[in-house]
Amino acid sequence: MGEIPEKQVGEAGSHLQRVSSTVGLPDQVGNVGRRTMEELAEDIVASHGKSQKSLGPLEKVYVFWLAGMSCDGCTVSVSGATEPALEDLLTGSIPGIPLVILHHYVLQLESGDHYMQSLLKAERGELDGPYVIAYEGSIPDENLSASGEPFAGEGSLPLWAPSEQRRRVSTAEWVKRLAPGAAAMIAVGTCATWGGIPAAYGNITGSMSVMDWLGADYRSALGLPVINIPGCAPVGDNFTDAVQAILLFLQGLGPLPEFDELGRPAWQFSDTVHRKCGRAGFYEEGTFAQEYGDKECLVEVGCWGPVVQCNITEKGAIAHMGGCMNAGGPCIGCTMPGFPDKFAPFYKAPPGSMLSSNASRFMGAIVRPLRRISQRERNREIRWHDTVPSGWAMHNGATSLTHKILEFFYEAMQFQGAERPGRQQTLGYQSLPERVYEGDYQVLPEDRAKKVEKRA
Ligand code: SF4
Ligand code: SF4
Repeated sequence: MGEIPEKQVGEAGSHLQRVSSTVGLPDQVGNVGRRTMEELAEDIVASHGKSQKSLGPLEKVYVFWLAGMSCDGCTVSVSGATEPALEDLLTGSIPGIPLVILHHYVLQLESGDHYMQSLLKAERGELDGPYVIAYEGSIPDENLSASGEPFAGEGSLPLWAPSEQRRRVSTAEWVKRLAPGAAAMIAVGTCATWGGIPAAYGNITGSMSVMDWLGADYRSALGLPVINIPGCAPVGDNFTDAVQAILLFLQGLGPLPEFDELGRPAWQFSDTVHRKCGRAGFYEEGTFAQEYGDKECLVEVGCWGPVVQCNITEKGAIAHMGGCMNAGGPCIGCTMPGFPDKFAPFYKAPPGSMLSSNASRFMGAIVRPLRRISQRERNREIRWHDTVPSGWAMHNGATSLTHKILEFFYEAMQFQGAERPGRQQTLGYQSLPERVYEGDYQVLPEDRAKKVEKRA
């Protein structure tokens, strides 16, 4: 576990005597609900007319969201999650899931010492349910802070001194104090999972991931190593979905969630971006964007999708909308441990893509024209032969001889060993149009008249 500078640590336990109860604490300014987060959640559940009785062993779970070297992007993503929505977790709307009491510096109703109460209670083991830590941002090396103030802090606590001096508490210190008792430690976003941008070359704050800071031997109170949900910013649903899966398992209502060798939810991160990218068909046909804004595959303007594990192409950024390639951006590998340095410069094609994209280009040059022939033919009704009666003049001509020959063999293969649609003459039954028009029953009226005239 990383070290906290001595100057930032108060005398052990001393502050607890000063803020261990809300008695004597000032009224909270700005708490419009005049409730704690927990009371509000319970009120909402009661107002739905629901029983607060849980379907499993857990009635409620506390989640402490801490932020290190972060841009708050993970908070923005998670608060926009839809499957499930954060609100669903916080209001007991998901059957079987215990009520989630979230302590978050942006969303929390309580402020000041009231805000710190639950963190302190968690440390003392006084909560009436297990707690989970969600950590956003990387953990800086607080020993490098020249001012002595933390790079990343959460709240302040009184010093054990007659004066009313207080000290800011670094989130690294909160991790040190709370991680051993946490049911699970979830690193949210690439800064927390792998160090991310604050830990890129240069790294003036000595930042690192939660996993690196706690060490490989770290295990939560339930025996779990750090759970990692990467992304810069992550897909918000990946966090709420993972929390939901873990809670369902703990309630005995869901299967054991599977994590990969880096602690990522395996069902979210086993596929590459490329496999489900909306532009993958362009790659396969060997057509590539040459500049931003082109609609084709973005590999030649710097997309690393074929080697990057990320599900944004499946989930979208929020509510199945947006996401890098949908918005025109190449994948820069933001979910990967090597991000950002191993994916730079972001505007250059990955060297490994040269082989595969040139192979696609070669194959595409053969396959594309053949596909267009099949497509053209399947863009015609079976009544349309040499004429297409479209006022839009989509195309109006007869097909070429080459096209007809290719189509003849194509159809021969298509129906080989299978039944061609339409009634077979051998069955003896004829529909009314067949009886009336005979072999001309599936042609345009105009063509039929011409055929009849020709036969006469
Ligand atoms: S844009 Fe990227 S992820 Fe999409 S098809 Fe091209 S290389 Fe694959
Ligand atoms: S597609 Fe690439 S850049 Fe976009 S979120 Fe996923 S890993 Fe990050």
